[in-house]
Amino acid sequence: MTPSAPAPSPDDLAALRRRYQHERERRVRPDGAGQYLTTDAEFGYYAADPYVGETAERAPFHDTVDVAVVGGGFGGILAGAHLRDHGVERIRIIDTAGDFGGTWYWNRYPGIHCDIESHVYLPMLDETGYVPEWKYSPGEEIRRHAIRIAEKYDLYADALLSTTVTDLTWDDDTEHWLVTTDRGDVFSARYVITATGTLTEPKLPGIPGIQDFRGHTFHTSRWDYSYTGGTPDGGMTGLRDKRVGIVGTGATGVQVVPMLAADTAHLYVFQRTPTTVDVRANRRTTAADVGADRAGWARERRDNFLRIVSGETAEEDLVADGWTASAELLEKLLPSFRRRGDRETFEAAYEVADAVKMNAVRERVRQTVTDPATAEILAPWYRYACKRPTFSDNYYPAFNRSNVTLVDTADSHGIERVTENGVVVDGIEYELDCLVFATGFSVGISGIRSGKLPVRGRRGTLLMDEWKQHGTRTLHGFTSNGFPNLIHMGPQQNASSVNFTHILDEQACHAAALIAAAETAHALVEPSRAAEGAWLETLAQDAPDHEWFHAECTPGYYNQEGRGRTNGAGAYPHGAYAFHELLRHWRTESIDEALRARKSTGDRAPRPELVTR
Ligand code: NDP
Repeated sequence: MTPSAPAPSPDDLAALRRRYQHERERRVRPDGAGQYLTTDAEFGYYAADPYVGETAERAPFHDTVDVAVVGGGFGGILAGAHLRDHGVERIRIIDTAGDFGGTWYWNRYPGIHCDIESHVYLPMLDETGYVPEWKYSPGEEIRRHAIRIAEKYDLYADALLSTTVTDLTWDDDTEHWLVTTDRGDVFSARYVITATGTLTEPKLPGIPGIQDFRGHTFHTSRWDYSYTGGTPDGGMTGLRDKRVGIVGTGATGVQVVPMLAADTAHLYVFQRTPTTVDVRANRRTTAADVGADRAGWARERRDNFLRIVSGETAEEDLVADGWTASAELLEKLLPSFRRRGDRETFEAAYEVADAVKMNAVRERVRQTVTDPATAEILAPWYRYACKRPTFSDNYYPAFNRSNVTLVDTADSHGIERVTENGVVVDGIEYELDCLVFATGFSVGISGIRSGKLPVRGRRGTLLMDEWKQHGTRTLHGFTSNGFPNLIHMGPQQNASSVNFTHILDEQACHAAALIAAAETAHALVEPSRAAEGAWLETLAQDAPDHEWFHAECTPGYYNQEGRGRTNGAGAYPHGAYAFHELLRHWRTESIDEALRARKSTGDRAPRPELVTR
């Protein structure tokens, strides 16, 4: 249990504010996001696929499919499944990975589990009849579920795996997209869906000398079991006599550290910012525990979770875990973010609630870690929502082991230097046989926003040039004028949630509905400039103000490494639950009306989204 903590006095709050500011200043770096290296060119080794052997030669494809889906993670898989439900036949999912699963294909590190309850995280449980065995699934169960969906909806048939899309070009004459890949494929597709993910490309800290290390090294998202031995469940016999260093104590590091602690001769944990580690209480679950005997149980549970974590009211809390408990904090923040009512009162109430929560988290560290100096380094000094919270019952106890050393790198803004033999912090060299980077992913770098996948619409216009010049312009985050039959799935101008797969499922459902409607209406999926403009106005009207909050936070990918978050592409201001309602309503009003009108009158007038040919 998280220990309870008394309400703080005004003096306590003032002291906390000072401490938070001091800790933030210790960590903010002038180079911001520029401190990281991408895993390409000389660092490409860190991103190579360790799960496939030699990629088998195959003949390139030059055919035509109905829909090309870029990305075989849950986004792409769900798009494929919903398209199948609409009767679409030739669906070609393309992914760099050797199989379906996206992040769950790549991340197989020891200890990997989902940090969202499996019964709301795993999509299509109603449709597949699968009931997860644990409250928080191990990664392998999730990866297998991705494959289960891909098999059920026959998505392997046209898939191109171990293949990277390198170019998407619209051809006005044929009204098809030309899809080019790194395996010599050049095929055409009537529609393209981009489901390229947001946290996919592993990043490395740009530590001086990183390329000099002579020991073994890899990133957690490409775990090298050929070196460590063992499986995600542990048993890494290859590390029994090894001195291992791990850099990074985010959501990944928290899961990996206890496993490495158990299997290494000595583990050095190089920490820059401590994470908040709350109670996990993972346990086996039965179908009866989650009411899985009723049709629609999973959808109901998932909606209930989304309502609560989006700050909406719900009659009961079906999941009842650390995420839903922390929604109490969000309820206090949202009115302020949404500029509602007396903001000062809400902010003051929030500050007290947050202090109680964080004092309890810090107390948990002190009660678990026996060495007071180590406990103090592990205590997080920032507000709860500044970084993605984590949950573990074996992370803090790992620091009580005699073979584990915690090294605080905050004062030197991270590791000072890497040498041939190890890692230097504050002038002390820690000799290592193996250095593991749990340093996360470049945010939003994958796909079209990185420029790595050029997308050329009408008249060869590059999507990213267009967005750089005129700002991101979409309707609902899915479609853009000048780029017909292209549907973006991802974080552009829509809504997000900690439960990514729920968001992806709703997006996939919408994308498939657009394509099905366009097929029936013999239309192109393309919004008018006016429809895009109206959507931008909707986003701007109630644009939330959370910059003040992020500007006071410790650096991380939530706030562009300490620079405060600019609401760049913009998100729907009323949250994910309301956004899904809006999409459902729009589909009924706009698509259905368009189809009805077309059926009865043959009306060729353009609709806001479906432009008739
Ligand atoms: P993060 O970006 O959250 O963490 C990176 C870590 O590396 C931080 O602790 C960071 O410190 C540290 N770091 C970076 N550079 C240095 C340096 N130079 N010296 C020392 N330390 C350094 O990556 P994760 O892989 O942990 O998580 C990324 C996201 O993936 C999560 O936020 C979550 O969304 C998702 N995830 C989800 C899981 C799930 O179960 N659903 C499980 C794991 C991850 P600092 O904080 O100071 O920057």
